[in-house]
Amino acid sequence: MTAALLRNDQQGREAFSELAFSVVNWLLRYYEDIESFPVRSQVHPGDLLKRFPQTPPENPISIPDVLNKLNDDVLPGITHWQHPRFFAYFPGNASFPSIAGEMLASGIAAQCMKWETSPVATEMEQRCLEWCSHLLGLPSEWKGVIQDTASTATLTALLTAREWKSNFRISQHGFDGKRYRIYTSQEAHSSVEKAVRLAGFGTENLVKIETDGHLALIPSVLERHIQSDLSAGYIPTAVVSTIGTTSTGAVDPVEAISHLSTRYDLWHHLDAAYAGSALMLEEYAHLRSGFNGVDSFVFNPHKWMFMQFDCSCYYVRNPEMLTRTMTITPSYLVSGNQERHIDYKDWGIPLGRRFRSLKMWMTFCLLGTASIKERIRQHINLSRVVEKWIVEHDKLTLAFPRSFNLVAFHLRSEIDPEGLLTKQLCDNINSAGKMYLTHTIVNDQGLIRMVTGQTYTDESHVQESLLYIDKEITHLL
Ligand SMILES: *Cc1c(COP(=O)(O)O)cnc(C)c1O
Repeated sequence: MTAALLRNDQQGREAFSELAFSVVNWLLRYYEDIESFPVRSQVHPGDLLKRFPQTPPENPISIPDVLNKLNDDVLPGITHWQHPRFFAYFPGNASFPSIAGEMLASGIAAQCMKWETSPVATEMEQRCLEWCSHLLGLPSEWKGVIQDTASTATLTALLTAREWKSNFRISQHGFDGKRYRIYTSQEAHSSVEKAVRLAGFGTENLVKIETDGHLALIPSVLERHIQSDLSAGYIPTAVVSTIGTTSTGAVDPVEAISHLSTRYDLWHHLDAAYAGSALMLEEYAHLRSGFNGVDSFVFNPHKWMFMQFDCSCYYVRNPEMLTRTMTITPSYLVSGNQERHIDYKDWGIPLGRRFRSLKMWMTFCLLGTASIKERIRQHINLSRVVEKWIVEHDKLTLAFPRSFNLVAFHLRSEIDPEGLLTKQLCDNINSAGKMYLTHTIVNDQGLIRMVTGQTYTDESHVQESLLYIDKEITHLL
């Protein structure tokens, strides 16, 4: 029967029907059973490679046999990001509407590189980015585009900053021997350093600015570095600030950084990859101050807005700088009406583009913004429950004040002066598979991060997990 799958005729569609309904049923079971799986996959490196033959099947395998392989060879190798006891990293959330949107986008299978290759993909993307902008309260003149990841958005920002600062000379003539400087905080995401490297600035020209007791960039230190770089003949080019750093959720003083970027003529890129979603709540509206001095901004609906990977929203104040940096149009890509529509291929690095806005639109339509906000608020409230529990626990201590829905803690230093037991505790918990946490090191202090932000996490999952942490502590000490 599977041989018919390469034909779009009655038989081919019947085979596809069997396949597609089996896959949907498999997914329904998956979501029904998800809490019974270990959150972090328990396999060892190479275990799975052995299960897949060295050459692809020459003749087709039946649909039921392939589904059995899915259970036996695939499922054990999945780390379940949609498990409600996933508290590691930052979440990579899906929701049922977003899954359905991705199913449709993959079913239609359009490649949406420019307007005419599927006009609705472009115009829906424009509208969905306006919706997000409105929801987060971003400046209304900013224009957005969907990128695959925040890392790509930050690279795009630094490439644009490079061209803007060099008057578009570097893309023509290469680097001119001048040293362009990029500034960010010591707590910035590693994607900033990667972008500095890839954009050709050289990591030596990335200046990591000290942070204060809240792990936020200190503007006076930034200004001192800019001034000394100027007098040494460097060219201060861009500053990358963060709302919600990865280790602890720290928030840089965006307004003060905007003042400096304006005064010294720097490109100001704001990385709000995770915590940007919180801007939709009134209680975080104050974080928007200083946005008028921001040149580019990124946040990831694929982390905390229930629109699954990949979906990263990148906004720019002046799209012309971006499109001048990115546009290359060989004759086979020339379109008519070029001034009347957007070609998003000119707003980023890849030419080919998926129809990503479909899942955004489906999610907005089927959930509504009120319930999205409500869920984000619930996640923050769950984090307050975790915070209170840590504060009252006789063996644990908060490493930093809670930020958004991120709580960072460790065993009290009289119990664990070197931090080794805290690391062991995290490893033990993750190996048992009941829940998933992340260990990190900040200012030489080992700590465990717990982010209560998975789409389907509720208070019972959190309570159960706290009891489990307690049990593992007793076991360890
Ligand atoms: C997650 C994260 C990133 C990287 O996001 P990708 O979309 O995976 O590239 C960058 N910056 C911050 C602050 C993040 O939290």
